[in-house]
Amino acid sequence: MPTSAAPTIDGATHLSSGKVRDLYELPDGRLLMVASDRISAFDFILDTTIPDKGEILTRMSLWWFDQLADLVPHHVLSTDVPDAVRGRAVICERLEMYPVECVARGYLTGTGLLDYRATGEVCGIALPAGLEDGSRLPEPMFTPAAKGAFGEHDENVAYDTVVDAVGADVAASLRDLTLLVYARAESVARERGIILADTKLELGRRPDGTIVLGDEVLTPDSSRFWPADQWQPGRSQPSYDKQIVRDWLLSPAAGWDRASGDAPPPLPDEIVERTRARYLEAFEKLTGQPW
Ligand code: ATP
Ligand code: MG
Repeated sequence: MPTSAAPTIDGATHLSSGKVRDLYELPDGRLLMVASDRISAFDFILDTTIPDKGEILTRMSLWWFDQLADLVPHHVLSTDVPDAVRGRAVICERLEMYPVECVARGYLTGTGLLDYRATGEVCGIALPAGLEDGSRLPEPMFTPAAKGAFGEHDENVAYDTVVDAVGADVAASLRDLTLLVYARAESVARERGIILADTKLELGRRPDGTIVLGDEVLTPDSSRFWPADQWQPGRSQPSYDKQIVRDWLLSPAAGWDRASGDAPPPLPDEIVERTRARYLEAFEKLTGQPW
């Protein structure tokens, strides 16, 4: 765990760090969630950071929490955070997170496509033959995943596995909320010329049992956004995320062999700048706000 990367913040106790975010506890028990400028690719945290990425993702999440507020309560309590992390952190209520990544897919790609090619199914749901990379699904699907240990991939699981983990009532609520959020976000994005191919939500529980949307929501790190005018099933789609980084790392210029297990090399300035511009473009297009 990259705990060394988490800055010390006066008055906050560092709890944990993921690849991108650092979680702290405040003296009153509330959580401080800080989005760093770190970027991960192929399950490595890169040595190079993307300036403003943490702030872009934080502002995007906040905007979406607002858009979804009539569908599901969210965990954000305040954006009045310590100066050191202003703009890229939120104070949120502590939830008991459900041990399931709530994924909705409207289009087939990524691990969904891999599973489909191997079995004709995704998360135990059979799909029609003949779908390709980027195909629109007959209808949006709930495709839950079990959270992998640090550095491991999440694993797609059948709905019954979720029922076993959280009970039938909660499983049904997680599924219904996830599909509701996807439908709302998909239509908002579509109006702005962007396809929301899939998205991952993390939901948790208040002590009184209310299900609340936590974590980050509908950012390029948790979702696939594709420019609608370039959508063409049968190939990988251009997307508003770290595709520029992935493509460069796999190019001869990087001199990196993914199979070697070695850490990837630092990114050239040009790749950093183009990646930053891509995240900004996604922010501006989706929210309609200038950066
Ligand atoms: P990674 O995303 O790098 O695979 P990660 O998910 O463990 O690892 P982050 O996403 O950086 O790490 O950190 C956010 C963590 O905080 C997640 O474990 C998430 O489930 C948890 N979390 C988010 N919101 C809340 C909340 N309101 N209460 C408690 N835990 C939360
Ligand atoms: Mg996470």
